[in-house]
Amino acid sequence: MEKPIKFIFVTGGVLSGLGKGICAASIGNILKARGYKIFMQKLDQYLNYDAGTLNPGEHGEVFVTEDGAETDLDLGHYERFVDINLSQDSSIMTGRIYSDIIARERRGDYLGKTVQVIPHLTNVVKEFILKGAEKANADVAIVEVGGTVGDHEGFHFLEAIREMRYDIGIDNVMYCHTVFLPYLGVTKEVKTRPAQFSIRDLQGIGITPDAVFCRSDQAIPKGGLEKIARAANLPVTSIVPLQTASTVYEVPLTLENYGLGAIIEQRLHLTPQQPDLLEWRDLVGKIKSDKRKVNIGIVAKYTTMEDTYICVFEALKAAGWHHNVDINIKWIDAEELSSPTANVTELMSGCAGYVVPGGFGIRGIEGKIKAAQYAREHEIPYLGLCLGLQVAVIEFARNVLGWGKAHSTEFDEKSLQPVIHIMEYQKTIVNKGGTMRLGAYPTRLKKGTRLHEAYREDEISERHRHRFEFNNKYRKDFEKAGMILAGISPSNELVEAIELKDHPWFVAVQYHPEFKSRPNRPHPLFRDFVGAVIKSSSLLDVDGVTSVRLETLV
Ligand code: GLN
Repeated sequence: MEKPIKFIFVTGGVLSGLGKGICAASIGNILKARGYKIFMQKLDQYLNYDAGTLNPGEHGEVFVTEDGAETDLDLGHYERFVDINLSQDSSIMTGRIYSDIIARERRGDYLGKTVQVIPHLTNVVKEFILKGAEKANADVAIVEVGGTVGDHEGFHFLEAIREMRYDIGIDNVMYCHTVFLPYLGVTKEVKTRPAQFSIRDLQGIGITPDAVFCRSDQAIPKGGLEKIARAANLPVTSIVPLQTASTVYEVPLTLENYGLGAIIEQRLHLTPQQPDLLEWRDLVGKIKSDKRKVNIGIVAKYTTMEDTYICVFEALKAAGWHHNVDINIKWIDAEELSSPTANVTELMSGCAGYVVPGGFGIRGIEGKIKAAQYAREHEIPYLGLCLGLQVAVIEFARNVLGWGKAHSTEFDEKSLQPVIHIMEYQKTIVNKGGTMRLGAYPTRLKKGTRLHEAYREDEISERHRHRFEFNNKYRKDFEKAGMILAGISPSNELVEAIELKDHPWFVAVQYHPEFKSRPNRPHPLFRDFVGAVIKSSSLLDVDGVTSVRLETLV
């Protein structure tokens, strides 16, 4: 008989943003380390169809999968922690479920019946969960339920996962509930009451948790864990304290050290395995060790929330760990830089390298163009990601080719030199949701370029999310003036990557390499960018103050 797929559902209580995604990803990590084939999935309450139209300044980065799904940023955590490539099966928003059910109703699938949340909507949810896990051929599927228990919007998900235990058996379903324990400064106490209420809420829906993760900024005393154990009808060993860690990558090790791996194996009747966490322990050791620092500027319009560019941050950090340095991020506000009276030198100062990440809309665009110019003229390493390529091309056209009116038609429809434009076949696209070039596409790399040196491959594949492209009619002009078109699509139709001759390291790509970077395997472009930064700059001492020339250190 075929082995049944085991399901672990991760819910959250008390408040949002407590790191439920990291907990789910960490479970995936320690189970993968035992040799299990893992499927990860996020259920999101929003009525959006996908994350494509969500504002990254509010909701965080839109993560793009190989097959071009625009998803919640938690999928990025899953890919980084579990080292797997996910697909659209892993990100289910309520809008998609409704869309599916309405299509079924219109087709007449319900044969005159009223269509209801239970059982129709919940059945579709269960179908999405089961199909995703089956398609991935998983041993264990870890499903994170977005939002917080008690939200009106999340009821259909909770009801569906409750029914799953009934449908596929108690031995095949485990529930992990993540709660937050606030610290009360006045009495110097970690409080458990909200967590206990949240467990009660969950029990009220008919879900009894099998383990509770207790997030807290302070150490949780044993008495606190015991109170939660009592509320949850669980042995205290199943209540896992998770005090805020210095690095999220430590969470799998904390869970493993606490014995969660064994608890899961026991609960789901899996044969106990020894996890191979050697490489991960190494990584965490490296992350936590004292290192010299290097400042990298990110020129962007959303500068208040790290989550907006989380994959770019993680890719930079991973590249830093590879070179045994820590990356200090300096935000450079593109809008401030845009002002005609901006003091560019002052705003750009203090960085040994610059990244211009992806973006949409005109706000801050002139600032990003100035940043590309600054990096080019001052011979400071530059990494352009998607929009970061487009601004580098516009800058080059304006200041090297002398085409003062050069622009992207995204920002100036009537530009006389539309060096970035929308291609003919894309012009018919009007909706904003899911209408871009999305997902993995191949690129051929020119030999002898920085790009080829980084990848050490002739053809690569990377994830895309954009509408506008390099205007092919200007290829020759750019090349003559010293821009190398280092990556072209195999059909020769699209410019995918550019770099500059006579510059220490200036590379920009039309795609998003950050999505494929892993903490222990940094993306080659980020790795070489940080390598170039280290080579051409001063490093900061651990205290972040003293500046030391690299040559004196090696
Ligand atoms: N706005 C640009 C485009 O649509 C760049 C998109 C991006 O940076 N992801 O082509």
